[in-house]
Amino acid sequence: MKPAIADGHVVTIHYRLTLDDGSIADQSTGGEPLVYLHGAQNIVPGLERQLAGKKIGDQCDVVVPANEGYGEYDPAADQTVPKTQFPPNVDLQVGMAFQTRARTGQPMTVWVRAIKGDQVTISANHPMAGQRLNFHVEVVDVRRATPDEKKHGHAHGPGGHHHH
Ligand code: ZN
Repeated sequence: MKPAIADGHVVTIHYRLTLDDGSIADQSTGGEPLVYLHGAQNIVPGLERQLAGKKIGDQCDVVVPANEGYGEYDPAADQTVPKTQFPPNVDLQVGMAFQTRARTGQPMTVWVRAIKGDQVTISANHPMAGQRLNFHVEVVDVRRATPDEKKHGHAHGPGGHHHH
């Protein structure tokens, strides 16, 4: 019997992510498939939830609302700062991610959202926040996770994490 996707399984998928404007935001098709540990929040929640029960060979279209994807867009999380606040050797580009610390001291990621003259808008909103995500998914493989994978919360081996 083919195993169905459930918590504690390592899943290999090919996917194509299309936004509502028709643009392809991301895809594995033609490249390496995505390998993830189901139930460990390795992928956006809405996709993980809707892939449960699927089997090897299944193809499906999964529509994920923003609140189950990269979150709703929060204008209060945008901040405009002068370019001079960045190191001069950094070639700033829209979409670039930076690691920083929140006021609470927790590490967080911010993205460059816009560059206008010498003003840069940085944002804690993921670049795809507020967007509905339309996935086309093909399930390539489903297997039980090893105890180590479960402990680490991610997949090992080809396509997964490699430890030294
Ligand atoms: Zn590991």
